[in-house]
Order: sequence, then C-alpha cells, then structure tokens
Amino acid sequence: MLKKDLVDTPVFGSNEEQCVAPKTELPREGTAENIAYQIVHDEAMLDGNSRLNLATFVTTWMDDSARRIMTETMDKNMIDKTEYPQTAEIERRCVNMIAHLWHSPEAVGGQYCMGTSTVGSSEACMLGGLSALFRWKKRRQAAGKPTDRPNFIISSCFQVVWEKFAIYWDVEMRTVPVTADHITLDPQQVVDLCDENTICVVPILGVTITGLNDDVKALNTALDRLNARTGWEICIHVDAATGGFILPFIYPNVEWDFKLKWVLSISTSGHKFGLVYPGVGWIVWKDKSYLPDEMNFAVNYLGAEVPSISINFSRPGNQVLAQYYQLIRLGWKGYHDVQASSINVCLYLRDRLKEMGIFEFFTDEMPNPLFVWKLKDDPSRKWTLYDLSDRLHIQGWQVPAYTMPAAMENVIIMRIVARQGVGIDLADLLIKDIRTCVAQLDTLQNPTNSAEEWKKRRPSFNHIR
Ligand SMILES: *Cc1c(COP(=O)(O)O)cnc(C)c1O
Repeated sequence: MLKKDLVDTPVFGSNEEQCVAPKTELPREGTAENIAYQIVHDEAMLDGNSRLNLATFVTTWMDDSARRIMTETMDKNMIDKTEYPQTAEIERRCVNMIAHLWHSPEAVGGQYCMGTSTVGSSEACMLGGLSALFRWKKRRQAAGKPTDRPNFIISSCFQVVWEKFAIYWDVEMRTVPVTADHITLDPQQVVDLCDENTICVVPILGVTITGLNDDVKALNTALDRLNARTGWEICIHVDAATGGFILPFIYPNVEWDFKLKWVLSISTSGHKFGLVYPGVGWIVWKDKSYLPDEMNFAVNYLGAEVPSISINFSRPGNQVLAQYYQLIRLGWKGYHDVQASSINVCLYLRDRLKEMGIFEFFTDEMPNPLFVWKLKDDPSRKWTLYDLSDRLHIQGWQVPAYTMPAAMENVIIMRIVARQGVGIDLADLLIKDIRTCVAQLDTLQNPTNSAEEWKKRRPSFNHIR
C-alpha cells in the first residue's frame, strides 16, 4: 500500500480491522499508528470501568493536572539520578514528608530521612523484611550463634507479599490465626510464637481481608517485655499499605509509628491512599542505622550521598513526581478531607446495607475506608454472596466475594473499598443495584451451586489480595 493510501484509509476500512489482532507471534510488518492505537484502545475497553471497581485499593482517579504531570514526565527514569537530579531531589522530599507524618526521629532540623520510593508496598515490604533479616543475622553472628533458621510472625490475614518474602528469602512465616474472638493480631499469641530466631513481627494497618488495624502499640508493649526478659531484640515492621496514609490524617492520636520503641521500619502504598496512579510505594526506616550497610548501595551523584536501596532498578519517575504533586496540592487538610470522605461513603453504604436486614458486620469500627460483611444465616436462602457479586458484575460493578483465611475459611464475605472518586451519589446507585439484585436472587426456587463453583474458580485473576 502506498503511503497516501494508508493516510486516507479509514481505520475501520483498513485490512487490520478486518482480521483478529496478532496474538502469539510478532507480526512481520507493522501497523499504521492510528490503527494500532485503535486496536489496543478497543481491547482495553473490555477491562471495564476502573471507577466501578470497588475491589481494588489502588487509585483510579486523579485530577487533570496530576494526569498532565504524569504524561509529561513518564519518560523519566527514577533510577537515573544523574540525568534527573530534580526527580531524585523530589523523591527525597516525599520521603521526608512521609517520615515526618510517621514521627521519624530523623525528621527534625531539616535533615534527610532514611527511606526510598518503591514500585509498591510489595517491594517496600521486601526491603523492610530484608533489613530485619540482615540485622538479626549480624547480631547472631556477633554472638557466634547459628543463622540458618530465621522466622517472622504475622496474622493469618497477611497479604500475599509476605508469603513471597518467606519463600524468596527462606524465612519461616509463623501465623497467628484470626478468629471471631481475635479478629486482629493477638499480642499474647505473637509472644508465644517468638523465639531467638524471630527476625521481626509484622502488624498490618488496613488488613486487606477485614479492613481492620492490628494494635501496634499493644504489640510493642508485649515485645518490649519479652525483649527485656530474653534480650532477643525482636523488632516491628509495620505493613501500613493502607493505614500509612489514613492514620496520620484521621486518627493522629493513635500510637502506631516511630514513636513506638520497637517500630524500626514502615511501608505504605503511594498508589493506594497516597492517591497516586500505580505503581509507587514507600518505605522509611527509623533512622539510618537500621538500614544494614549491605542493603545500601550508596551513589554519590548529587554531590550529597544518595542511597540506592530498591530491588528494582529502572522504573518510571512520573509516579514519584505525581506523589509530590498530591502532597503539595492536597496538603494535610486535603488528605484529611479526601480520606474522611471515603470513610464517610463506607459508613453510608454500611448503613444502607444494614437497613436491608440480611447482612451481618464483624465490627462497628470503620478505621479504614473499607469494610466487609456476610449474609445472616438463613437456611431457606437459595443464594450466596458469590451470586450477588456475579449479578453486580453484570451491572458493571466489581464487588468481590471471598472466604476468610484458615480458622474461618467457611465464612464467605463481601468487601467494598471506597477511594477518592467514589462519592455518595455513586454509592447510592450501587445500593440501588444491590437491592435489585437481591430481590431477583430471592425469587430463585432452587439453590445455586456458586460456593462449589467458586472453589473451582479460585486460581483465576482476582484483585482480592
Ligand atoms: C496492597 C497491600 C500490599 C501490597 O501492596 P502493593 O502496593 O500492591 O505492592 C501489602 N500489604 C498490604 C496490607 C496491602 O494491603
């Protein structure tokens, strides 16, 4: 085809739109820009509308200026601190502001706090866990003791990254079961699981499965007593993927951060309630001394020493710039207002669901902008929350249903996360659809087999964890 023809060919009159897109082999010839764009754009339509996805914790709305910053700067490589020194400087400002929110003792006198951006909480959790592992190893080696059997302790509601941490670095994961009586991490059971090989304990703020917060202060007190008695120096890494950007604004008086003696590192997801599109996360250490030298690949590009700590090397710098944009655009007050609104939307939704009379809630608390519920027992009911989830999906909503972890694995629950971009009006439309779907399901004559079907469906894609 001549160039002129290509330019004149309407997209949907083109040869490419008359056949299926390449799926397994690199095509020999290329495709015209506008046609290739249309193909990819149209396939992505099938993903549905991310704003109606109430399963994810991850940001699905940013304002136009944030989008502009992100598209203008998406060619910047975060790792290249010589080529993009200002992006590196801005990363450090973000670390400082976040460290300050978490009461880092280093956040005084304008010095730089120890921390880094990451791809998300997963990489940040890996770094927190690894630093605890290295510190433990060093202490053990200095004492002439074996270092071959490290373990860490976490609730059975852990996010999958901790399972990865255990497998990748060969650290035993000891879990404290979450039960109806102990719906968050029980400090006494933690202490019972500790021994001289425990590298750290990982409380979670914004437990993925329940939305609740582990009690870091109580854990700190329990560990302080244990450490005083045994000399084990067992520390805390807080997985604050959600809570790191909620607590400082909504519950500034709750003690959970570096004010507590044994909290030595904290991680969070910038792309969750840090309100940035994926993927950016953050980790901060209490001070420089808690980042083992082995993990600090210092580079002295900027005249000052800049640590390179992350596991990934190249990654986009625009997410870090967008994080800084959000921090200065919103300020403390803006973050407070956005997070408070999201919690308010959850309270609104929960009240409406309560009015329906068929749902049960685990607690009255709403510490984070997410909550879970289950169906009240009713032997005559023909459907499960899986059926409701499916029906809502037909309306475009993604509201996941899933089972609780070990010890409560027969309990099917449903979860909603409200983020920036979900207002009361949208929430109200969801409630209307839930009522309609429930009314339809209540007319069923025979029980569905959705619970069995879902067990088989398990390995498919989901956004639950
Ligand atoms: C989301 C989440 C993670 C993983 O975070 P990413 O940013 O998706 O890598 C880890 N822990 C908890 C508690 C989470 O909610």
